[in-house]
Amino acid sequence: MLRIKRELIEEIARQGEEGYPYEICGFLLGNIDYVNDTREALEVFQVENQNKERANDRFEIAPQDYMRVENYADGKGLAIVGIYHTHPDHPDRPSQTDLMFAQPDMSYIIMSVNEGKAGNWRSWELKDDHFEEESVQIID
Ligand SMILES: [Zn+2]
Repeated sequence: MLRIKRELIEEIARQGEEGYPYEICGFLLGNIDYVNDTREALEVFQVENQNKERANDRFEIAPQDYMRVENYADGKGLAIVGIYHTHPDHPDRPSQTDLMFAQPDMSYIIMSVNEGKAGNWRSWELKDDHFEEESVQIID
């Protein structure tokens, strides 16, 4: 389950609309409660989508960006709890490519951006070899 501050969702929507018609992506930073299997997202950290050829329906994160975000999170005592990205003019469901690069124990927020306007979003987690939608609680 994911708990996330409302302002982060608004921020992802803003980034998604700004980046349209390309996919934007970034990290969710916060805390992980292993006992209750809950991730809490307190900050977003946008990174550049490295896939320039198919930025309309693919995203890639550079290893240097992973390191940069990890250092930043460490410095603030936070953990990487997930990754968010947008689907311009596509539903908020993971693609085959998303599945290929997914890691366990992370929240994957996918937000649909339709004709430049942010729309539905859901959070997914990897269960064995497939994604399952996870429940989300918004923190005000
Ligand atoms: Zn995707």
